[in-house]
Amino acid sequence: MIRFEHVTKRYPDGTVAVDDLSLEVPRGGITVLVGPSGCGKTTTLRMVNRMVEPTEGRITIDDDDITARPAAELRRSIGYVIQHAGLFPHRTVLANVTTVPRLLGWDRPRARTAAMEAIEKVGLTADQARRYPAQLSGGQQQRVGVARALASGPDLVLMDEPFSAVDPLVRADLQQEVRRLQRDLGITVVLVTHDIDEALTLGDSVAVMRQGGHLAQFATPADLLAE
Ligand code: ADP
Ligand code: ADP
Repeated sequence: MIRFEHVTKRYPDGTVAVDDLSLEVPRGGITVLVGPSGCGKTTTLRMVNRMVEPTEGRITIDDDDITARPAAELRRSIGYVIQHAGLFPHRTVLANVTTVPRLLGWDRPRARTAAMEAIEKVGLTADQARRYPAQLSGGQQQRVGVARALASGPDLVLMDEPFSAVDPLVRADLQQEVRRLQRDLGITVVLVTHDIDEALTLGDSVAVMRQGGHLAQFATPADLLAE
């Protein structure tokens, strides 16, 4: 579904964050990018929705070059979840989750309905939807982040260390939730983590990156464990 062809990212200060990456992320399932801090995972993920532009190489989604569409339009069509949820603190949960549908031009009733559905899908209540992010626990805020990413019904969702800031029990819950949502909705998830256990637990395929932005391995958890 997503194909990286000899993709390199060199930041203006000369740092090579990703070096000649070629990778094919399959449709459906969860593909995990794993590796130590600074090895280029976030850069790789952000190139998919053009928050970061590659210096060299080409990225396609379903064979379409991602630069063929305006970056803002591409970004809105792809779900994106980050570590601390990144919610707007002065907007209610519902207003946070309606953000992308509204940006897509959906009218308020439609955006609201889609948002409430997404909020229910991640296991939150209508009462919680009326609250502000700070009135929810860290794990619940992460659920809101996931709901916001799902509200407009994208078939691709990018997640950058989505569970790293929550405690281990909540993390296990959220991992199961993402697995269930991926299956139920038939979406493709690309998830970044520095935690190899999380990669092996959640990944249908795992891309192991190492310092310098190199891809070391791309395999199933079973194959990685067999080595
Ligand atoms: P990871 O997600 O694996 O921690 P990143 O993609 O965030 O890795 O970073 C890869 C490398 O690129 C690191 O050396 C990091 O310091 C560097 N880097 C990331 N963003 C920038 C930037 N905007 N400008 C310069 N260097 C950056
Ligand atoms: P937009 O600026 O994109 O039109 P809105 O400000 O209308 O978005 O908010 C989107 C949804 O969130 C609306 O359905 C609105 O009713 C609801 N909403 C916004 N602010 C609040 C609030 N303070 N309390 C409860 N619901 C709110």
